[in-house]
Amino acid sequence: MSEGIQQSITVLKGVGKETADNLQALGIETIEDLLFTFPARHEDVRLKDLAETPHNEKVTVEARVESEPTVFYTGRKNRLQVHILAGRYLVKAVFFNQAYLKNKLHVGDTVTITGKWDKGRQSISASRIEFGPKTQQMDFEPVYALRGKVTKKRFTTFIQTALQTYQEVIPETLPLFLREKYRLLPIVDALYAVHFPKSVQHANQARRRFAYEELLHFQLRIQALRKLRLNEEGGRAISYNLPLVKALITRLPYELTGAQKRVVNEIFRDIKSPYRMNRLLQGDVGSGKTVVAALALYAVVTAGYQGALMAPTEILAEQHSVSLAEWLAPLGVRLAMLSGSTKTKVRREVLAHLASGEIDIVIGTHALIQPDVEFKQLGLVITDEQHRFGVSQRRILRDKGEQPDVLFMTATPIPRTLAITAFGEMDVSAIDEMPAGRKVIETHWLRPEKMSAVFERLTLELQAGRQAYAICPLIEESDKLDVQNAVELYEQLASFYEGKFTVGLMHGRLPTDEKERVMRDFSNGDITVLVSTTVVEVGVNVPNATFMLITDAERFGLAQLHQLRGRVGRGEHQSYCVLLADPKTDEGKERMMAMTATNNGFELAEKDLALRGPGDFFGRKQSGLPEFKMADLVEDYRILDVARQDAVDLLQRDDFWQNPLYTPLQEMLKQSGVLDGERFD
Ligand code: ADP
Ligand code: MG
Repeated sequence: MSEGIQQSITVLKGVGKETADNLQALGIETIEDLLFTFPARHEDVRLKDLAETPHNEKVTVEARVESEPTVFYTGRKNRLQVHILAGRYLVKAVFFNQAYLKNKLHVGDTVTITGKWDKGRQSISASRIEFGPKTQQMDFEPVYALRGKVTKKRFTTFIQTALQTYQEVIPETLPLFLREKYRLLPIVDALYAVHFPKSVQHANQARRRFAYEELLHFQLRIQALRKLRLNEEGGRAISYNLPLVKALITRLPYELTGAQKRVVNEIFRDIKSPYRMNRLLQGDVGSGKTVVAALALYAVVTAGYQGALMAPTEILAEQHSVSLAEWLAPLGVRLAMLSGSTKTKVRREVLAHLASGEIDIVIGTHALIQPDVEFKQLGLVITDEQHRFGVSQRRILRDKGEQPDVLFMTATPIPRTLAITAFGEMDVSAIDEMPAGRKVIETHWLRPEKMSAVFERLTLELQAGRQAYAICPLIEESDKLDVQNAVELYEQLASFYEGKFTVGLMHGRLPTDEKERVMRDFSNGDITVLVSTTVVEVGVNVPNATFMLITDAERFGLAQLHQLRGRVGRGEHQSYCVLLADPKTDEGKERMMAMTATNNGFELAEKDLALRGPGDFFGRKQSGLPEFKMADLVEDYRILDVARQDAVDLLQRDDFWQNPLYTPLQEMLKQSGVLDGERFD
């Protein structure tokens, strides 16, 4: 393919050494890279009438210059202002830091200006100017994310040259039958349409093709992975002792919900089967995942295997230890805990016992994934609140021991599109039912001025014997300012309730044993009101707590607010959640309203995704979400569904690997490394 698009960008006419370096800085090394650098969006540059343009909207006008430009300087910055006549409108055009335009604009000239229309000021804040009438062939201009020295104009020329020179040799990567099925543009047409669209529809056609292709490729990779796992040799069939597990179930203080029974069955089927479990267990906060985890861990222990449960925080690990010990220690199960603060001597002992098999179940934090932690016979690994862990951390634990079964638990309901993207190669179980008798948490959104009224309501609750959380935002664990917030609220509440109720303080900067003491005191009722940063966010379970006050609630995302709210409503009493917030943005207001409108985690998750986009949903870089060039997980959910189904169908065809019809897809899979067991999660 020496003549192909894999060639270096330098073969292109007009690209010298310096330009090549500049393009390389944008990640463009080959002709192919250049052609597939898609615009971030298309800008509408059709001429518009100002009378019909809403305030703050982008507009393009053809206009006559009516005044000599004036330039204002402030420090290093400058602002150029000129009057123009656009249609019947005499308005101002404003340019920032483009003083050089002063000598280019003369009364009587015709110019074409694009910018943001300020209706009140009757001015256009210009982002683009063309001298003369609108010459543009295109009504929709691609906007590329260009940084540095390459101008838009030259970039466009390069793409045009590349397309014209190489269109004969650009390989078609999407099989014809799929293009026909969905009426998708052939690759060359699609490239023209995305870089030089004739209309919005034209650009959209290109988008549709590339989005489908990207999602299909992605789905093929994860479905191939899943297929491999199910056929994998080396997974183990663990024959647990069913009567023992059943005996434990009857000893529980409650009956399992229908949903819990169902997911226990799904998990147990995986444990028993010879392939390796790789399952995601979703269940809203309070749906009762812990007991499910305990049953699964116990099951492998009855077969002589070890189990590990990893939690994202020490508090949570501690709490799981307590719950599991309560259920399992009487049955002779040997448990241990391992965290960052485990004393060296104890740690050494635990490690020795894990290696010798004298410990059956270990519960812990990140400390579990250190390289020196070895197991005798690890059968099952469970990670709780798994979205909190980085992808690589999840992987390390999974790779410990020989092919242990893996269960990820999450209380963050994940919208379907994200679930099948981030966790597509996993099987999914969902606890979609709450334990009986739970009351709906009443949620209120109040302005911060209402604080004293909130205190009064809180007092009533405390007098009735209940407990409460008061949460302050925390962006970074190390953020001094945020700790300060918590300390202030603590002092305020402590003096307010002095001699009546005990107020405790919890934040990430406390020493570990202090954190544990506070948590224990709150748990057994010695502390009535717990002021805390978000360290209590995940998992903590104190059923007598019925009042959740969240200050500066606008600083939290929906998923986190819902998690926090889930700390109450865990017992038999009516619970309340009060959001004190003064959101400045519409998005902030929408979040508060969404919280008061529903208690349903899945609904909130969909809303969160719509408000914040997929990148922010899981928290940056942690998501395991692939980066798509064109596909958008919010907009393109229908395409995703179709692509997923196609991927499943394709891989099920007996002739998939032989038929030349599928050559480009076979190639893609081979190159992806998936088939060599290289996992990309
Ligand atoms: P999460 O799914 O958020 O981890 P937990 O496992 O902490 O939820 O359970 C929340 C609360 O519900 C706990 O107090 C637990 O004892 C209780 N619980 C769990 N399952 C049931 C059930 N089937 N019936 C009644 N209460 C239950
Ligand atoms: Mg939990």
